[in-house]
Amino acid sequence: MNVEETLKKVGLRLTDTRKAVLSLFIDANKALSHSDLEEKLADCDKVTLYRTLSSFLEKDLIHKIVNPDGVAFFALCKHHEHTHHAHTHLHNHGHFVCKICKETRCIEDFEIEIPTNLLLNSQIDEISVVLQGTCSNCIKIQNRV
Ligand SMILES: [Zn+2]
Ligand SMILES: [Zn+2]
Ligand SMILES: [Zn+2]
Repeated sequence: MNVEETLKKVGLRLTDTRKAVLSLFIDANKALSHSDLEEKLADCDKVTLYRTLSSFLEKDLIHKIVNPDGVAFFALCKHHEHTHHAHTHLHNHGHFVCKICKETRCIEDFEIEIPTNLLLNSQIDEISVVLQGTCSNCIKIQNRV
């Protein structure tokens, strides 16, 4: 996934912040919170970061996951590389949240099937499926002590 090409494709102007934030998401391989991003982008102010995330959400480059503590995390939209249906795509995959380290990641191969009658009679805007537990890293640490 090329940062500059991706930004151009969705019609976003190339700025240093946008390039830096998108690179972080590509490299992270997990969901990132505001504070994760602020930590990694020390010289970027909060307002610029907030606007960058809003523009990425609007262009479906990323999606938002709210963890059980109410903290917002953001993760790259993987389907973007294949087909892009702006404003019509739903994230019906689940997310795993570690109760100990709070790591949040997309479980792409765990998908929720929406009942057809619900799809016909209602409008679904968001799906939030969060699986809570202990991640493999934290299990390893627990077993050591
Ligand atoms: Zn998406
Ligand atoms: Zn963990
Ligand atoms: Zn996800």
